[in-house]
Amino acid sequence: MTASRGDTPIYVTQPSLPPLEEFIPYLQQIWDSKWLTNSGPFHQQFEQALCDYLGVKHLALFTNGTLALVTALQTLRITGEVITTPYSFVATAHSLLWNGIKPVFVDIDPITLNLDPDRIEAAITPQTTAIMPVHCYGHPCDVDRIQKIADNYGLKVIYDAAHAFGVQCHDGSVLNHGDLSVLSFHATKVFNTFEGGAIVCHDAKTKQRIDHLKNFGFVDEVTVVAPGINGKMSEINAAFGLLQLKSIDEALQKRKAIDARYRESLAGIKGIHCLSAAGEKVANYAYFPILVQPDYPLSRDALYQKLQDNGIYARRYFYPLISDFPMYRGMPSAAHANLPVARKVAEQVICLPIYPDLSGEQVDSIVELIAC
Ligand SMILES: *Cc1c(COP(=O)(O)O)cnc(C)c1O
Repeated sequence: MTASRGDTPIYVTQPSLPPLEEFIPYLQQIWDSKWLTNSGPFHQQFEQALCDYLGVKHLALFTNGTLALVTALQTLRITGEVITTPYSFVATAHSLLWNGIKPVFVDIDPITLNLDPDRIEAAITPQTTAIMPVHCYGHPCDVDRIQKIADNYGLKVIYDAAHAFGVQCHDGSVLNHGDLSVLSFHATKVFNTFEGGAIVCHDAKTKQRIDHLKNFGFVDEVTVVAPGINGKMSEINAAFGLLQLKSIDEALQKRKAIDARYRESLAGIKGIHCLSAAGEKVANYAYFPILVQPDYPLSRDALYQKLQDNGIYARRYFYPLISDFPMYRGMPSAAHANLPVARKVAEQVICLPIYPDLSGEQVDSIVELIAC
């Protein structure tokens, strides 16, 4: 038996779309008003709806998460060196290079797979201006310790929160930590607007600066204050986001059930390690990473291939490490000896399929393939 039963392949994620007819009235409204972009009514409504849902004060929508990261760095005028993780999607470090900033890679914690706070201080130099951690797989970073280090050294903190939609930590939304947090609403993420992203900030003045920067630096018709980018989200994407928001809680519940089913059935398999559960905190079950350890009968890549041969398209997030790509690997902080934990995890990880429409039977057949 194959998990896909010989018909449709199972990908690591699949967006859940609302019925098309529910989207038509939104489109009708856009057609009627002919307001297609530049902070139209849906854009404004969606920003407010997201602030309410996420429990944050201010949020600026973007075309995608990468432009939001690039703009977040410009918002705070970050220069010099920024401490970041090698264990992430490549856009995290690319946003630094787009700003002429030098990434300094620091190893991750073996339990959370987030930037290891114990290793940050040693990487700080007179050129360091900020820390850019990632809430990897939606698991919150050690936000209090990172903030303490930032305060001690006068550094800014910008979280790449692309995985952390809806995630809570001990004191509410994890997005309220750091100076800025950046979300991605790409089609592969827990909450999507086809393409999209956002910056979360704490005050109206910062929000205004972000809004200028995402609109070429225009302040009014004749005044340009910065070399801003075109990062504006269109009305179509904002409208779709408003519609998606109606079903996000149900989608998260379904993900939670899949996560639990995987954990229970994988528990007895020797050599397969699941990342620790999110516990009492509100998680978003965005990913289901497993580590294939040396006592598993197959190598990680052999298991990855076996799944693929059976129509299961799992992904090796995050392999290779960002620091192994050609534009980074010559940097001193990219040296293998500097990143032993990240390196080991990158060689063991597989993210299994998880999305709201994945059935319990499909989960069982994926586990069955892993078990023998
Ligand atoms: C998806 C992702 C991004 C990039 O977001 P886009 O919206 O695709 O540009 C950045 N960082 C991380 C960690 C991501 O997973």
